[in-house]
Amino acid sequence: MCHVDVQMPTHSCGHPEAISEEKVDCGRKNCSYSAQHPAGCKPCSCNKTMGPRKSITSGNVDKPCYRCNKQAR
Ligand SMILES: [Zn+2]
Ligand SMILES: [Zn+2]
Ligand SMILES: [Zn+2]
Repeated sequence: MCHVDVQMPTHSCGHPEAISEEKVDCGRKNCSYSAQHPAGCKPCSCNKTMGPRKSITSGNVDKPCYRCNKQAR
């Protein structure tokens, strides 16, 4: 099933913060969220559940997260 990847790199203050998210298509015809799912699928008994959001915590950002950045001013 399809899910959403949330990019959460660690910022210079040490906090992970979401900076972007991207839908990951499973490419299955029997998943109603996939681009491969036929538009006129009737009766549609395909998967209608979106997978859990997945946090990708790899990577670093060379600036403080939004909250810390705000407090610093
Ligand atoms: Zn899917
Ligand atoms: Zn269907
Ligand atoms: Zn922070």
